[in-house]
Formats: sequence, structure tokens, C-alpha cells
Amino acid sequence: VLKAGASAWLEKDRRYVWHGMVAHEAARHPMAVVGGDGAYVLDAEGRRYLDAMSGLWCVNLGYSRKELAEAAYRQMTEMPYYPLTHTHLPAIALAERLSTWLGGEYRIFFSNSGSEANEVAFKIARQYHAQRGEPHRWKVVSRYRAYHGNTMGALAASGQFDRKFRYEPLAPGFVHVPPPDCYRCPFGKEPSTCAMECAQYVDDVMRWEVDETVAAVIAEPVITGGGVLVPPDGYLPKLREICDRHGALLIVDEVICGFGRTGAPFGHQRYGVRPDIVTMAKGITSGYLPLAATAVRAELFEEAFARDEAYAHLRHVNTFGGHPASCAVGLATLDIMERENMVDRARILGDLLAAELKRLQGLPHVGDIRAFGLLAGVELVEDGATRAPLAPELVGRVVAACRQRGVIVGKNGDTTPGGNNIVTLCPPFVVSEAEVQRIVDVLGEAILAIS
Ligand code: PMP
Repeated sequence: VLKAGASAWLEKDRRYVWHGMVAHEAARHPMAVVGGDGAYVLDAEGRRYLDAMSGLWCVNLGYSRKELAEAAYRQMTEMPYYPLTHTHLPAIALAERLSTWLGGEYRIFFSNSGSEANEVAFKIARQYHAQRGEPHRWKVVSRYRAYHGNTMGALAASGQFDRKFRYEPLAPGFVHVPPPDCYRCPFGKEPSTCAMECAQYVDDVMRWEVDETVAAVIAEPVITGGGVLVPPDGYLPKLREICDRHGALLIVDEVICGFGRTGAPFGHQRYGVRPDIVTMAKGITSGYLPLAATAVRAELFEEAFARDEAYAHLRHVNTFGGHPASCAVGLATLDIMERENMVDRARILGDLLAAELKRLQGLPHVGDIRAFGLLAGVELVEDGATRAPLAPELVGRVVAACRQRGVIVGKNGDTTPGGNNIVTLCPPFVVSEAEVQRIVDVLGEAILAIS
């Protein structure tokens, strides 16, 4: 039925739907996704693809989890909506569970998207300092190449020029530092000569900007959209120490790294760091409904926000944040994650993915291979000696060749503005070992096909 009508749907799509940044070669050959099952999606032309990107880094539990749909249905029948100006049970229950997953007491503020969760984090950081008598602490330090969202503050925090320059001026007060990129070290170091100059730079910025003006540092555990940049082990602990020494808060963006993706409940836990604020979205519902959250260490909340005076309240209201159906799906997601040991599974499959990817080393154009949990980036270069990023046209052909072979991969990096020469892999946790191998086989074939 759909096969016959697929081109008509795509024609209407071209006419009526305004897409933002479209994925890869999808601009020319979009697929209309009509269904999915496990790690596979089905398009209107009847083709089935192994989705090695979990949609947009979020469908961690795969595409056919009836329990998640049923949780939404049950909640909508029982109590479809009420705002959190009062309260409701799904939000209370999910906030408690998230706090447990975070491994310490956190206060949870619900919102609608990863971008909004970060906006809330910036507001909380500024207000926290203001209420402690330090109103000049308003700057936020973030890294080049990181992505933190599409709104004026979250985009300002992002370090990807190509997404920003048409929309400037963005929110002021965001200061960028070089990313921890061990393949293209901004300080010209190799891992053997590295003294973590990239982390030291944050310390320098605290002095140059005057630390009494800095409210927070925001960092993903691993820069994901910027090309899966896995920092040296000591990097995040060092940021924690720098924040402590300069009185700034540490915000960790777990929008992609959270909920098991890195093989730990949250990515920062792999580094033994306790953030002041954690932001999350995407995997919180395994992508089944929109939901996001900003978690704040309970001590900070008690210190600055728990008082009765009106000025101590966080001035951020949204209509749909913590929607009951979304929270119910969030709870069902965590139930499945726990019942099926999905965090361990992601870690074990991640180890397999990392081992399998080693097979690609030595193929033409394969520069660096980085893996962290069930998340990986394969950096494509003209040649290994120059490390010059592979031309966008050729990277696009690799992505297209994977799709022709039935596997969806991503293309990210912003190594140069808009230059995405890193093939990214972020498969659902429900992939089998054989499917992990197939992803790597297909990527290898695709790279050889353009060589
Ligand atoms: N932070 C990170 C690390 C992200 O990858 C994204 C989205 N890809 C966001 C924030 C923004 O999330 P959203 O698209 O839900 O606004």
C-alpha cells in the first residue's frame, strides 16, 4: 500500500514540511519512516534499515516497545494533563527515580527538550549565585565543537559556528575554550606529551575573565555531536576541581550520554565526578515522547532556592514540561532499563563495538577511531599523514553507501565550520552482537566503495 504511494508522500513533504538541518544525504533522498521493530526502521517504500543512530541518538530501547506506548495510553486515560504549578504522581515518581539513577540527592526540574534543560541550567546557575550575594557571576564557559541546543542561550553555549552565525547576536556571556580533541590537539600535543592543556585552559580563562564573573562551566562527558571526542580520563575531574577552586558550578550535559549510553547510568559517573547540575532529554523516554530534565544537587537547592521568599523561586514556567504521559513513559523506560540490565548491555556491546571497529584501522581514509560505551566516531581523513578532513562530498557518499547496504549511520564533527568528517554510531541497546558486527562490516565496505 505504502510502497505505491511513497513518492506521492515525499512530493507532499517537499511541498509542505520545512525541515531544519536535514540528515546527511537525506536532503536529496529522504525516507519516509512508517514503522520500526527492535533496532530496525521501515520506510514507505518497504525497505528495512538497521538504525545505527537510534533516530537522533535517543531510541535506546528500540522501536517496538509496547510497554512504552501502553504507559502513555494508560496515563492519558487516567489523567491526561495538569501543569506542575501543582503536582502529579508521574512527575513525583520519576523525579525520585532520576535522583536514584544519579546516585545522590538531586532536585529535578522538568522541561521539554535538551535545549530547554540547558537554558534552565543557565538560569539556575545565575540565580544561585545572585541569591548568595554574587550577582556578577553570569558567564558560562563551554567548549568549541560542543552542541548544547537550538535556543538563543543553548546555541550561544554551543561551539559550532556553522549553526550560529546567521542568528547572531545570541545570548551574551558565553566564553568558549578549545575542546579535548586528542586527534587534532588544539595545543599541538600527542597523548604521550599531553599535560591536559585543554583543561588547564579553563583555569586560565577563569583568571582572564575574572572568576567572580563566571557562573558555570558546561560540558558533555564526551562531546558527541562534535565528533565523539573522548577526553583524557582526568579531564572531567580536573574541570570539577577548577570549578570548585573558582566558585563556579559544573553543569554536565547528559542529553546524549545519559541513560546508559556510555555503559554507566550517566556518562559523568564513568569519571567519578559529581556535577552540580545535570541536564538530560532524549533517552529519558527512549525517544517515545518529548521530555527533558535539569537536576540540581539538593544542597544547592536547599541553600539558594528552598526559602519561602518569592525572589528565591526559579522564574521558569512551561506548559508541557513534565507532561504526565511523558513522565509515565520515562518511568516505563527506567523499568525496562533496570529489568533488562540495559546499562550493562550497553557497556558489553560497546566493548564489542570498540573491538570490531579496530578492523577498520588501516583502511583508506580511516584516521582516528573513538568509542565510549555504545557510542563511536570514525574520523575520515584524506590521508593519515596530513589528517586533513575528508571532503564533505566523500563523507556523504560513505553515509549513502551504508544506507544502500541497509544501515543508517550519522555524520558529525564540526572539525571545520560545518565540516562533518566523523561517521557516528549510536545503535539502540537492543542490537545483537551479529548486528554490531554488521554495522562495522557495512561501514568498512562503504569506506572501500569510495576509495
Ligand atoms: N545537548 C546535547 C548534547 C545534544 O546532543 C542535543 C540535541 N542533539 C541537545 C542538547 C538539545 O536537545 P534538543 O534537540 O532536545 O533541544
